[in-house]
Amino acid sequence: MTTSQPSTIAGELRRVGLRVTAARVALLETVRDGDHLGIEAITSGVRDRVGHVSLQAVYDALHALTAAGLVRRIEPAGSPARFEGRVGDNHHHIVCRSCGAVADVDCAVGEAPCLTASDDHGFSIDEADVTYWGLCPDCSTARSSWAP
Ligand SMILES: [Zn+2]
Ligand SMILES: [Zn+2]
Repeated sequence: MTTSQPSTIAGELRRVGLRVTAARVALLETVRDGDHLGIEAITSGVRDRVGHVSLQAVYDALHALTAAGLVRRIEPAGSPARFEGRVGDNHHHIVCRSCGAVADVDCAVGEAPCLTASDDHGFSIDEADVTYWGLCPDCSTARSSWAP
């Protein structure tokens, strides 16, 4: 029982200097169990685990965990922010234009920045954040089945 999930997460929170609260533990569990969840799915996941938590408390906890580097926020153009527990590996995302499904794509070379800019304008570049856009398998199938 000493290696149960909650105590591990509590340890991680302490290591980054955050106070351990039930909402933060539940939030980190929810984000890690989920797959690029939006704020509504995270809120209901947290409430399933610890009962009523205000939306503001969820935002506060997300902000603290993101700032501490335990949660990564992604914001594909034109869609609401999503959150994930896979951090620190410079992976990229592929987003479905039709349904908004998000999948992870490993970093092309394994470390940031994985792409060389054709013109760096004298900047020292430390990250390349790539979003691939297309149609997920379900949406491509649906689209082709509409064809006459
Ligand atoms: Zn789709
Ligand atoms: Zn991801």
